[in-house]
Amino acid sequence: MLNQLRPHQLRAMSMLRQSLGSGKRRPMLQAPTGFGKTILGASIVDGALKKGNRVTFVVPALSLIDQTVQAFWREGIKDVGVIQGNHELTNSARAVQVASVQTLQRRAFPDTDVIVIDEAHRWFKTYEDWMTDPLFERVPFIGLSATPWTKGLGKYFDDLLIAATTADLIEAGYLSKFRVFGPSSPDLSKVRTVAGDYHEGDLGELMDKPQLVADVVSTWCKLADNRPTLVFAVNRAHAKSLRDQFEQVGVQTGYIDAYTDVDEREEIRRQFHSGALRVVCNVGCLTTGVDWDVRCIVLARPTKSEMLFVQMIGRGLRTADGKQDCLILDHSDTHQRLGFVTDIGHQTLDDGNSKKAQGTQRDQAEALPKACPACSFMKPAKVHTCPSCGFEPERRSDVETVDGSLVALDGSKRKYSPDEKRRWYAELLGFACENGKSQKFALAQYRQKFGEWPYKKNGVRPVKPSDEVKSYVKSRMIAYAKRQAQVQNRSAAA
Ligand SMILES: [Zn+2]
Repeated sequence: MLNQLRPHQLRAMSMLRQSLGSGKRRPMLQAPTGFGKTILGASIVDGALKKGNRVTFVVPALSLIDQTVQAFWREGIKDVGVIQGNHELTNSARAVQVASVQTLQRRAFPDTDVIVIDEAHRWFKTYEDWMTDPLFERVPFIGLSATPWTKGLGKYFDDLLIAATTADLIEAGYLSKFRVFGPSSPDLSKVRTVAGDYHEGDLGELMDKPQLVADVVSTWCKLADNRPTLVFAVNRAHAKSLRDQFEQVGVQTGYIDAYTDVDEREEIRRQFHSGALRVVCNVGCLTTGVDWDVRCIVLARPTKSEMLFVQMIGRGLRTADGKQDCLILDHSDTHQRLGFVTDIGHQTLDDGNSKKAQGTQRDQAEALPKACPACSFMKPAKVHTCPSCGFEPERRSDVETVDGSLVALDGSKRKYSPDEKRRWYAELLGFACENGKSQKFALAQYRQKFGEWPYKKNGVRPVKPSDEVKSYVKSRMIAYAKRQAQVQNRSAAA
């Protein structure tokens, strides 16, 4: 089996051998989305079997039992029993046991030489009891997780092994590249924090407002190019509002929450892949174990949790035929607060004692991305010129905002020569032409930009608009649409 492993999986196996060889008994292997964690798990099991060891592989949900058994079978590991209720594969004589933590809670711990805890960031008291049981003191417990950042894990695991990061896997082509736009910033200042994340009720109230919901959909229409899209909402009411708004503009949209049964979920998945559904709105339940071909992620659920954030983005990072990148439309301000998914990481496990906030170590703020004021593309820290639209903010940036929204502006006070202005007008005409707009439209844009009418306009022919001109006009149109929406909301409220 080892010779089928990818380089980062081989590295993980070798780090694990070294860790156990040096006497550690509680290693935690961090394997991000796209790592091939199942293959890695199978490889660990295979290695233990070859040494004549018995292995127990523990999963945190009943739904993962059969999936895991089948994955082992595919890798040629056939001697597998199951510990879960009265499962038909119950057979304690088998060398490999796949167990659900729920069943283990009610039974004696199985006799075994190696224990693998899958999805180990989902922590259960049973694990603590097992790991501290004197009978198991010398027995290796190997944790597997994409996000082993749960508070207190460091009390039970003694060695964090990072064989590859999300950035490494993107670089190596095992995960998709991504681009992020931050088209709006909700005001989270009044949202309470509970257990380390935003209060769900407060969030629901904040995010489920007609204008914000409409903004999510109109941004998607402008930027998403009809990509198959997963939308993360705060709660069921919010997900339904988003679904209704998408449907209202003619986008076929599905809805999934924790109560959606397996058959219906499968049907939605089928329609999503056939293109019958373009968008699926969900409430946090499509964060793990979903391998859909998603090419756009909409974050409408603000979170302080690095784990939830990484899991949500992870749904969009699988590679697929013809997929250039994943587009991320962040309406939750999460990138501004936590950084890019590739920035998130910890060199040590949380021991639960540390008083300081367990955020990703970075030069706060310094290293956080910022939205381009012209096109809302999220620029990495210290990048001045927007890589997406070419816009250059003024250095002493007093970024103008339109009606409190982030989408603004050209902000330029630079002087244009008569030739440059003429060129602008020609490009505005070109833009009007490409977009079915009139000459009047180009004139109005020109006047808004320069505060005057073009000089000798009659001799000017339309030319292909540059990115600078295109993004200027788009930013004006978005600002205009927002003002219109606000006027409408006001009159609707009156
Ligand atoms: Zn830009």
